[in-house]
Amino acid sequence: MVPNGTGDQIMSPPDASPAATRAQAANAVRLRDAARTYSVGAVEVPALRGISIDIPYHRFSMVIGASGSGKSTLLNLIGCIDAPTRGTVEVCGEAIGALDDDGLADFRARNIGFIFQTFSLVPVLSAYENVEYPLVLVGTPESERRRRTMAVLDAVGLGAHAHRRPNELSGGQRQRVAIARALVKAPQIVLADEPTANLDSETGAAIIELMHRVQAESHTTFVFATHDPQLMSQADEIFVIRDGTIVERRHGRSNA
Ligand code: ADP
Ligand code: MG
Repeated sequence: MVPNGTGDQIMSPPDASPAATRAQAANAVRLRDAARTYSVGAVEVPALRGISIDIPYHRFSMVIGASGSGKSTLLNLIGCIDAPTRGTVEVCGEAIGALDDDGLADFRARNIGFIFQTFSLVPVLSAYENVEYPLVLVGTPESERRRRTMAVLDAVGLGAHAHRRPNELSGGQRQRVAIARALVKAPQIVLADEPTANLDSETGAAIIELMHRVQAESHTTFVFATHDPQLMSQADEIFVIRDGTIVERRHGRSNA
């Protein structure tokens, strides 16, 4: 069970980011004919076959589809972890293809929180240090780092386990550390690859509630890849992906 936190405003942005002060683009994410082909030996695997979508700001948008349909590949493009082999990706009005490596790393550090399917926690760091790290990257002062890191760890119900390393936590607890790490800097966009896949339904519900709170406080844009019906029921927008192609866009909760 995840407690509700302190009632404190936990997710206010640490500082005004360049993207936040720029004139806002109409959508948080804009893809045009974005394709990604993996080369496996002599074989070309077309994971995404030319996707053109607009994902609105300040919503819960979800990419749903069968295993192998291209959800993770799509999230990786939006998260600037991977580049398209064709087409363009724009995030918060920034044309990702135009940034050099440093520019991309800086843009990602300031604007994007990523919850990986495999958590990707650093094994030698404690839960506290894992969650604090994104704030170190953007130069947040130590006292502010401490306040924010503990607030978000409390919010996911792990305040008492802050000193533990990932191998001293259960799968669900590690997942919650990964969620706390993605939220701690109050990024404009949080991308989450099957974030509730390893959680029981009660913890999953508490995590979803936490994300709603973050969204209400910070106007965060959430983009999920999921096939969890409990999470899907919370979607404002649903993009159905099949064999690397978006085959349907459905409106959810707020647009019924
Ligand atoms: P999903 O997240 O929906 O399960 P993925 O985006 O992981 O789908 O994968 C889409 C397709 O691309 C699948 O056919 C998968 O096998 C392939 N794929 C994904 N990552 C790689 C990779 N690193 N190398 C080769 N093929 C890959
Ligand atoms: Mg996946």
